[in-house]
Amino acid sequence: MTTALIVHGGAGAWRPGSDDDAIAGTTAAVAAGRKILEAGGSALDAACAAAVVLEDNPIFNAGTGGVLNFDGFVELDACVMVSDKNQIGSVSGLQRVKNPILVARQVMEVTDHVMLTGEGAQRFARVMGHADHDPITAARRADWEQKKKTLEVGVGADGKGAMKIREFLRSHPEYAGGTIGAVALDANGVLCAATSTGGVTMKMVGRVGDTPLPGCGTYASKLAASSATGTGEYVIRSLACRQISDNVEKGMSLKAAIDAVLDGLGRDFDADVGFIGIDAQGNAVGAHRTPHMPHAWFSGNSEIIAKMRA
Ligand code: ASP
Repeated sequence: MTTALIVHGGAGAWRPGSDDDAIAGTTAAVAAGRKILEAGGSALDAACAAAVVLEDNPIFNAGTGGVLNFDGFVELDACVMVSDKNQIGSVSGLQRVKNPILVARQVMEVTDHVMLTGEGAQRFARVMGHADHDPITAARRADWEQKKKTLEVGVGADGKGAMKIREFLRSHPEYAGGTIGAVALDANGVLCAATSTGGVTMKMVGRVGDTPLPGCGTYASKLAASSATGTGEYVIRSLACRQISDNVEKGMSLKAAIDAVLDGLGRDFDADVGFIGIDAQGNAVGAHRTPHMPHAWFSGNSEIIAKMRA
């Protein structure tokens, strides 16, 4: 059977000059996952290996390099789902851990639960052997300081005071994006989706996005699996990744299934979002409504292909 893997590095407007790093980072993640799939490994192992490469790369908003919340610390969300028996593991609001996706996987494999959050997630991570790790990079700290200053001074288009953060991000989209996702199909026909993020920049403490919510930012059915990126509040309201799987079940191609969800998100919210997915035949699709969404994939015997936009 065909194997395939696709990853994304976050929908948004990437800073000029960052293309080469984003392409190299996503390509390296696909290569790590591909090695596992071609040695007969599982979609779960491959998607997690790819996600770890991206979490460890500080240019992406996941693991090391996660964006800071309003109070100036990092709360990480991650989720993994396997099509076989609807296995799901998820963490939200996790602090000071290097690889949240591996903690999410352990929630799935060694607990009775689907999701752990906040302090409980961190306690579980420590018990599982994840050492204390500060994910804040100098670049993310500098971004945060600048944003904080701008918001305090007020950047309203009408000159009458501070903009709300969403409006601020719309006019400075280079601050958004960078979430990571990996979706894999293994030789047994099992699909796995994994997503990991620091969330949206300047989020309120305690905010949970779409990433750790199954069916929203991450989903795997027997026919299709997908991972979302972009403003999570829109993705949650539309149960986007579940919709993609449902569309495929209704007979749409994966491309049409993703495009239909993107169209709906555009119509209803003008949402800045993107998706990657793989179907049971190994077709890999990336699509987005943002200027960029670095993504890379292979399917069957293909080369690894990497792009900044679909
Ligand atoms: N979807 C993520 C969240 O809302 C952020 C992103 O993908 O940029 O937490």
